[in-house]
Amino acid sequence: MEERFDLIADFDLNMICNFFRQLDRQGPGSEDETIKALSFIKELPINAKIADLGCGTGGQTITLANNISGDIIAVDLFPGMIEYLDKRVKQQGLEDRITGLIASMGDLPFSDNEFDLIWAEGSIYHIGFEKGLNEWMKYLKPGGFIAVTEATWLTSNRPIEIERYWNENYPEINTASFKLKQLEQAGYNPIATFVLPESCWSDIFYKPMADHFDSFLKEYNYSESARQFVKRQKEEIAYYELYKKYYGYVFYIGQKPE
Ligand code: SAH
Repeated sequence: MEERFDLIADFDLNMICNFFRQLDRQGPGSEDETIKALSFIKELPINAKIADLGCGTGGQTITLANNISGDIIAVDLFPGMIEYLDKRVKQQGLEDRITGLIASMGDLPFSDNEFDLIWAEGSIYHIGFEKGLNEWMKYLKPGGFIAVTEATWLTSNRPIEIERYWNENYPEINTASFKLKQLEQAGYNPIATFVLPESCWSDIFYKPMADHFDSFLKEYNYSESARQFVKRQKEEIAYYELYKKYYGYVFYIGQKPE
């Protein structure tokens, strides 16, 4: 797994996967914002083929299936995530539309020109924004779309403490204008860019996360690594509370030229 940029790189990956998969979402985002991003993508065929990369337990996958037609391949590196995704898909009766696949987004078993749409919420950072945009282009049909969310500076000047925190954890964070340029340089036409509202972090991601700490610690018998992990997550939440006006997630939507 390409974990170089992961905020949680030093911990037992199974434990972390188990923690996150018990949450509805594994990153900041919401149904409303997924639908908003979709509203910019107007020309999908009825039998569209869609890839959802780093799908986690499928929060956004279900929203995609409920709002566009076509078939979705939902990809995650961790079997534990796909196991929960499969359960959710079954509960919703979407088995004929969504197929879970265990694979790495850096080494995808896809063919050139296969997809009408590539989706990646809160996950492209695992291989890096620039690398992901460049590598995934070939899987899109001409005229196909890409939509990803990515950690982005919302101002051009930031306090040194938050700069340091992000540079230690994901040095590829940058401003939206910089990232849009990378999207253009990768060969896409820009379609839309918008900032996710704070509620996607505070209410939808961090609140359920914080509510889950106690039962998680119990589940792991208050082990040293579980306590360290929770401490690290609490630190992440505290940084967000203090510095949220300086960074956020931005949706970047592009189109491969015809
Ligand atoms: N899209 C989901 C999950 C985001 S968290 C949401 O927004 O809720 C990022 C996801 O990427 C995790 O589920 C993690 O297991 C997965 N992941 C990490 N590295 C990956 C890789 N190399 N290939 C595919 N998935 C990966």
